[in-house]
Amino acid sequence: MTEHTGDGPRVGVRVRFAPSPSGDLHVGNIRTALYDWAFARRTGGTFVLRIEDTDQTRVTQEYINSALDTLRWLGLDWDEGPEVGGPYGPYLQSERMASYADWAQRFRAAGDAYYCYCTQEELAERRAAARAGTGGGPTGYDGHCRDLTPEQVAAYEAEGRAPVLRFRMPAGSTTFTDLVLGEVTVDHAHVPDFVLVRADGSPLYTLAVAVDDVLMKITHVVRGQDLLSSTPRQIAVYRAMGVAEGEFPAFAHLPYVLGKDGQRLSKRNGVVSVNWYRHEGFLPEAICNYLALLGWSPGENRESFTLAEMAAEFDLTRVRPNSAQFDAVKLEAINGDKIRGLDPADFVSRITPFLQGAGLAADPVTEQQAQLIEAGAPLIQERISRLTEAVGMLGFLLTGEAEFAVDPGDAAKVLTPDAAPVLKAAEAALADVTPWTAEAIKDALHQALVEGLELKPRQAFGPVRVAVTGRRVSPPLYESIELLGRDRTLARLARALTPPA
Ligand code: GLU
Repeated sequence: MTEHTGDGPRVGVRVRFAPSPSGDLHVGNIRTALYDWAFARRTGGTFVLRIEDTDQTRVTQEYINSALDTLRWLGLDWDEGPEVGGPYGPYLQSERMASYADWAQRFRAAGDAYYCYCTQEELAERRAAARAGTGGGPTGYDGHCRDLTPEQVAAYEAEGRAPVLRFRMPAGSTTFTDLVLGEVTVDHAHVPDFVLVRADGSPLYTLAVAVDDVLMKITHVVRGQDLLSSTPRQIAVYRAMGVAEGEFPAFAHLPYVLGKDGQRLSKRNGVVSVNWYRHEGFLPEAICNYLALLGWSPGENRESFTLAEMAAEFDLTRVRPNSAQFDAVKLEAINGDKIRGLDPADFVSRITPFLQGAGLAADPVTEQQAQLIEAGAPLIQERISRLTEAVGMLGFLLTGEAEFAVDPGDAAKVLTPDAAPVLKAAEAALADVTPWTAEAIKDALHQALVEGLELKPRQAFGPVRVAVTGRRVSPPLYESIELLGRDRTLARLARALTPPA
């Protein structure tokens, strides 16, 4: 046994989120981050962010930056970690290699780990033979190099073999009380000696994660159930580090997130990238609210809450152990609710970047654009479930007359020859409406089209809507016309009446 350098009093809860960003963070990662964060906030503890980037072929700086950006955007602020620092840094595993190497050597010196010289081919051959012998059951490392004699070692070294370092998993079993799953016991017959350090000297996940959790004084490991199988190994490494039994971090393994097909959620059965949702106009508060529900809900099964409410009420012991199904339709419904709940000025500031991205507004917005957006926003806030919809809905208002174009599909369906008399009558009716208010516009159009031409409202207002807003789906028509103004409205009606050259 080697001494434990992570000792000293533990002050409060320290929980970490430890992603290996080899792409955009996915909804499962974020559900974990959210629970980690909420648990830290609820307990007044410390939320530690650690980036597990020992596999630098997969985890790039770009993905790390994007992960930090995503977490910040969601409001999951960390107390220690990249960019904010902290007393147990560095918080990138790639900068902590010396401590993994140091602990690896201590384990070897203490007999908790040994060099294994088996080649991949030899391992595969013996595994195949063992599988044949056991009728196909799982077979792990067979302990071939556990107790090599100095002569055997010398012979392998003479052959020029580069060894891996393996952990010597003791006989017996590991039992721990998972805060979500309850008591878990794993027989070590299912936990073969595992590799800590590759032949090239690079550390593996189990070594780095255990060493860091001890050195960073982590008190709670809250993570996905996919990592459950590494827990007995991790506990064995804690023991080898000299951590006392009562001092191991507590574990909480969160339920799987499944796709609609009941399989683990992946690119194949759903959209998993949180950045995709961000770019599609989902609010961070909707994403957090929805993902929180994948395994937890506050009292009285309330389904709508804020991050602050979650931070006040989150309780790990109320996390459900059974798998949760990701439902994009429900996420979108929650997004619509959250959009409706924004205060009007906030709504304007949320849609503006999407309008700018679509080229409908300058960056920064001009005074005139700001006025139009502010005036148009209340017309759509109740009607959209993604911020991106603002582009289609407000485009008519923000597009200059020279660029304005009617959606060709909608034009083909609605601006048929039958529409010409309707548009003409609308033009005449609107030419001298006073005052130019939605109310007066409504009365004038009703009189001219529904009473005058004896049309059903759909036949009457469909062509006017498409001619004026360019689309069959628009904000409320009379208010839209009011905002657009008389000149622009009449110009668009006239244009719709002119057959294309
Ligand atoms: N880095 C691991 C992953 O992203 C998680 C480590 C942990 O939480 O123990 O899968």
